Amino acid sequence: MDARVKPAHDKPMSLSTAPLAPIEKVAEERYVAPAKPSLVGLSRAQLAEALGEIGVPEKARKMRVQQLWNWLYLRGAKTFAEMTSVSKDLRAALEQRFPLARPEVVAEQVSVDGTRKWLLRLPGENPGERPHEVECVYIPDTVRATLCVSSQVGCTLNCSFCHTGTQRLVRNLTAGEIVGQVMVARDRLGDWPRKSGLPDLRSSKDTNSGLPEFVNGVRPADGVLPQGDRLVTNIVMMGMGEPLYNFDNVRDALHIVTDGEGLGISKRRVTLSTSGVVPMIERAGAEIGVLLAVSLHAVRDDLRDVLVPLNRKYNIAQVLKACRNYPGASNARRITFEYVMLKGVNDSIDDARALVRLLKGIPAKINLIPFNPWPGTKYECSDWDQIETFSEVVFNAGYASPVRTPRGRDILAACGQLKSATEKLTARERMALRAMAMQDED
Ligand code: SAH
Ligand code: SF4
Repeated sequence: MDARVKPAHDKPMSLSTAPLAPIEKVAEERYVAPAKPSLVGLSRAQLAEALGEIGVPEKARKMRVQQLWNWLYLRGAKTFAEMTSVSKDLRAALEQRFPLARPEVVAEQVSVDGTRKWLLRLPGENPGERPHEVECVYIPDTVRATLCVSSQVGCTLNCSFCHTGTQRLVRNLTAGEIVGQVMVARDRLGDWPRKSGLPDLRSSKDTNSGLPEFVNGVRPADGVLPQGDRLVTNIVMMGMGEPLYNFDNVRDALHIVTDGEGLGISKRRVTLSTSGVVPMIERAGAEIGVLLAVSLHAVRDDLRDVLVPLNRKYNIAQVLKACRNYPGASNARRITFEYVMLKGVNDSIDDARALVRLLKGIPAKINLIPFNPWPGTKYECSDWDQIETFSEVVFNAGYASPVRTPRGRDILAACGQLKSATEKLTARERMALRAMAMQDED
């Protein structure tokens, strides 16, 4: 156990001279993209290039790209066969050359509170190797329904309170795998715009017809539904991984997710959460332009060094400076500061006061997150009274401070509890598998 953080029951935490956890770990695998990448996740320019590869003349490409875009992201087509506005010959050529793969759903769990968790399977690095898994969580509310999307398998960072950070296998997701999570959610929820033959979840007369198999017969329409006409209204990049460590793919994916002629989720409804990768925060503002959330979790560098070891590279002052400079931050587009409530560690009234002092001048929201315990953790969630007292200080200083109530606890879907089964495979087992795959090829 890290001696710098005492168990919550003990006297107040003392910082000793025990060594700190490393800032980050080295990924054990390198991901090699498949030779035939899926068309899902390609930009318009990349799609045009792909069409060029199969001989579509340049002057026809723009129109063809638009057709494909439409079928993929407006209608949710899963096969070329259903793209009836595309000529048969072109469909056949596309079919031969390109997959349309999205992540495969291997398990769906539905919580008593309506939260859904999908375990998604992604190809492994080498043939014969066990595939990788990520989780994607859907959290419906009365006014919105948020999809929590992963950016990496695991995470190379080592935040001491986060279960995902304990995963040994880490790889970046491709843009297609990130966009694919949104598409899979729409598939599973029946949330593509109505096409003939598909039921309209909001219309009672349609509710019995032809829905995909939902767990225990529970349809999304049976649970809480957000207002408006879509079942996924908001996206948060708060699943597994540090999105700013997979910048290019996250950027390309979010361009597709927010594209008005496709998946069409407004940039104001997409939030990217980072543990504070300072040099990339500015780029995120300039090149992605979605809302920013920062995992602060402590008001002093000595404590943040322990909770979020990346703090030793980019300290609180540097993180806050990057926030002050974040393009587009305004009272209408506040930066969210996430603050996990850890009993006896960071939850005192003095901490709360220091927090509001620290954020002075930044258009901010403060998101207090009750700690979600996981097996083997040394932390405990703050007592409810303490969270309320903390929240009052923050509220009295003029900040909205919604306490993010843990959702989906019964299915382990809450923050920081996303950890896939891939982790169970040791490096040796993976090497053995790889060796076997090589032998098979011989
Ligand atoms: N890597 C990014 C985004 C993913 S984590 C980041 O760190 O911001 C999403 C949020 O959940 C972060 O604020 C993270 O600190 C928080 N979190 C992680 N583990 C948690 C836990 N066990 N309980 C509560 N929140 C946790
Ligand atoms: Fe990674 Fe975020 Fe977990 Fe830290 S809190 S280990 S950055 S996923």
